[in-house]
Amino acid sequence: MPSVLALNTPSPADLWAMDREHALHPWTQFGTFEREGALVISKGEGCWLWDADGRRYFDSVGGLWCTNIGLGRREMALAMADQAERLAFSNTFVDMTNEPSARLAAKLAELTPGDLNRVHFTTGGSTAVDSAARMVGFYQHAMGRPKKQGIVARDHSYHGSTYLSQSIGKRPGDRVEEFRYKTDGIWHLSVPNPYRRPAKMTEAAFCDWLIAEFEALIAKVGADRIGGFIAEPIQASGGVIVPPEGYLKRMWEVCQRHDILFIADEVVTSFGRLGHWFASWDEFGVQPDIICTAKGLTSGYVPMGAVLFSDRIWDVMAEGGARWFSSGYTYAGHPVASAVALKNIEIMEREDLLGNATKVGAYFEARMKELAAMPLVGDVRGKKLMVCVENVADKETKAVLPDEANESKRISNAAEAMGLMVRPMGHLNVMSPPLVITEAQADFVAEVLERAIRQVTDELV
Ligand code: PLP
Repeated sequence: MPSVLALNTPSPADLWAMDREHALHPWTQFGTFEREGALVISKGEGCWLWDADGRRYFDSVGGLWCTNIGLGRREMALAMADQAERLAFSNTFVDMTNEPSARLAAKLAELTPGDLNRVHFTTGGSTAVDSAARMVGFYQHAMGRPKKQGIVARDHSYHGSTYLSQSIGKRPGDRVEEFRYKTDGIWHLSVPNPYRRPAKMTEAAFCDWLIAEFEALIAKVGADRIGGFIAEPIQASGGVIVPPEGYLKRMWEVCQRHDILFIADEVVTSFGRLGHWFASWDEFGVQPDIICTAKGLTSGYVPMGAVLFSDRIWDVMAEGGARWFSSGYTYAGHPVASAVALKNIEIMEREDLLGNATKVGAYFEARMKELAAMPLVGDVRGKKLMVCVENVADKETKAVLPDEANESKRISNAAEAMGLMVRPMGHLNVMSPPLVITEAQADFVAEVLERAIRQVTDELV
């Protein structure tokens, strides 16, 4: 197919065609993609993106929950280039390491809560979850509990896209009949979504019910078969679900009683999105045994993930010295990715971006929550720089609109035409802007989103 590829300087339309004719995008619906193709983005600076035609958008999606320090930082590009020139690659298998990877391992140990002083580097969030799940099995086996391999997760969770991480996650739209999933040794509890709790149940009673559900599952399956529990502190792609007050802490206590390792999937909630390096301890008072991270670790400048785990797990796995952890990825501890992560953390510290996420995040959250008064909006939920708006047909019954209404996509299209990117997801519009967002920009997001919702509401009647 040489026609467009042969062009020296492809126009925006050529780029669109190259992509449309050759690329398979994650989660894209084939029909829509063949009709509409994709928006070609060509430049990013701070919270702003430019498409190939030169149109500018405020990216309230933050890439995909990840451009935490904002785009276009020369310092990051220089760190990358410097490391690529010095040592672009060296593997970290068995007995090899490299300077940035070693420094990053020590830096992460400094930032993590409690005794999570150990790191297993991965290529992203999915591989972090995949390796964490296998670490649970390894640890429990080494503890002399070979049957204690199972993982408990929750409905509407998203933990990644490898076979294992996708089997652990359970977002409704992800379970397609064309794929097979691992079901043996994976159990799912109810989604802890206070907005959709049973009618007439208080939030506190709902929380009690959720804890009892976990305890009932343990009683039924047997604690000797459940090795780990995995939870996003705030479920991100499953609908920005902030669990009921006290839920995570109580689930952690149940885990401790039954020797079940608590895995916090902080791929989204770490590195400042909620104003902390890690949200499990600082926001929710939970000390996980394992934390999975990615995304904000490099602010999306390059791919990288990590499994952060406790000295206790290390000691058990290392006992006797004869075993090895057979999980690893060619690009684990990649020198360029590690150098980028170190520079990313340095920038966050120097510019106090966690402080900004706390302060402007609270303002952003409050501005977004004002949208709850609109007729189409059933719920606005989330914390700080992680918020979503849920659209409903009826605020009283909380009934959703028919799928054909496609309202959240239409809202995001309307916002896009006004220079704002928000992410459509089912009946939600989701926002997770970079930590460098200002109050004036938070106002811009609130005002444009309100106009977009009003426009689509008017079209619907
Ligand atoms: N875990 C959570 C909570 C996520 O939100 C994601 C991605 O969105 C992942 C894991 C998977 O990360 P990645 O896409 O980097 O593999």
